[in-house]
Amino acid sequence: MWRIFNENIFNNIGIKRALPRYLDVLKGNKLPYYVLDRNYLANFSYEMSIEDLWDLHEEILDNYNEIIKENIGMKTDFNFSFLSLKIEIAKRIMESCIFCERRCKINRLESKKGYCGCGNNFSLSNAFPHMGEEPELIPSGTVFTCGCTIRCLHCQNYEISQWYDKGIEINSSQMAKIVLNLKENGCININMVGGEPTPNTYLWLKTMGETSCILPTIWNSNSYYSIETSKLLAGFIDVYLLDFKYGNNDCALKISGAENYFEVCKRNHLMAKEYGELLIRVLVLPGHNECCTRPILEWIVENLGEWTRVNLLFQYRPEWRASEINELKRRLNSNEIAEAIKIAKDVGLKNLV
Ligand code: SF4
Repeated sequence: MWRIFNENIFNNIGIKRALPRYLDVLKGNKLPYYVLDRNYLANFSYEMSIEDLWDLHEEILDNYNEIIKENIGMKTDFNFSFLSLKIEIAKRIMESCIFCERRCKINRLESKKGYCGCGNNFSLSNAFPHMGEEPELIPSGTVFTCGCTIRCLHCQNYEISQWYDKGIEINSSQMAKIVLNLKENGCININMVGGEPTPNTYLWLKTMGETSCILPTIWNSNSYYSIETSKLLAGFIDVYLLDFKYGNNDCALKISGAENYFEVCKRNHLMAKEYGELLIRVLVLPGHNECCTRPILEWIVENLGEWTRVNLLFQYRPEWRASEINELKRRLNSNEIAEAIKIAKDVGLKNLV
């Protein structure tokens, strides 16, 4: 069944300021980055060392704005394209996985599994046109896969993220067909979710190399990915839909078991802003306005700008193991919601969803 998207997004000032290139791709005036990458020559050989592959990747990325952002592609053999270079680097990472900050260094090509539990194929839970995402994204071709790189005790998708749902194992060619099917069902983007998409970085790069359709890419992540993944995503992802979960490392460790989250999250948001367009989700947690909501929103305004598009979410409900954390046993009260909105206004955010 076809689903129609809301044409009003093209006239919304906040969306126009935050996501101008994305809107151009939707209008057909520009191409998604992965399409440009498929046509841009990267002069590498499959015998090169990982260090040399990274050097070449850096070299291309340094000139990225001029070469690719202006839609200047050149026809080349896919096997020696910028996207193929990214795929080859990601494949080497699969041999000693460092896609996220856990840096498990296990060989996933040999089916070994690290903290996230992901293997060498996708474990697909579900894929469908999602009408509950932000207005500028719907209908969104949302792909839910199993496994996650952090363990939020209140996770609302814990069946998927923690493998109660094992999913169906599929490879990148099968995923490419699912992407095409989502497009044929009226979806306006491909929304890589999870659990968490980070463990599937290699598979998503391959998928977008194989798909025959043209759709902007959405990276829907908890922001706990490594600097290496951040570089691979640069010039591949059109819109970063990033969670900014905590305003300090102690809360991140206590609730999500994620060491050094605040620094990692800040770094990845800065990279996202440099190489793509950014939409940030901030889930307000009970009792966490001063330790988390305020420092997060202050940092966003100071480092990404007052027009950064932010979706403040008030839908928290205690799920999974939330009862293990005292303040997370209840929903938000009206005072906390009002306080979070006041913080957003006080710090000067101008582009709330
Ligand atoms: S993606 Fe998974 S296997 Fe790879 S480093 Fe992270 S948790 Fe470990």
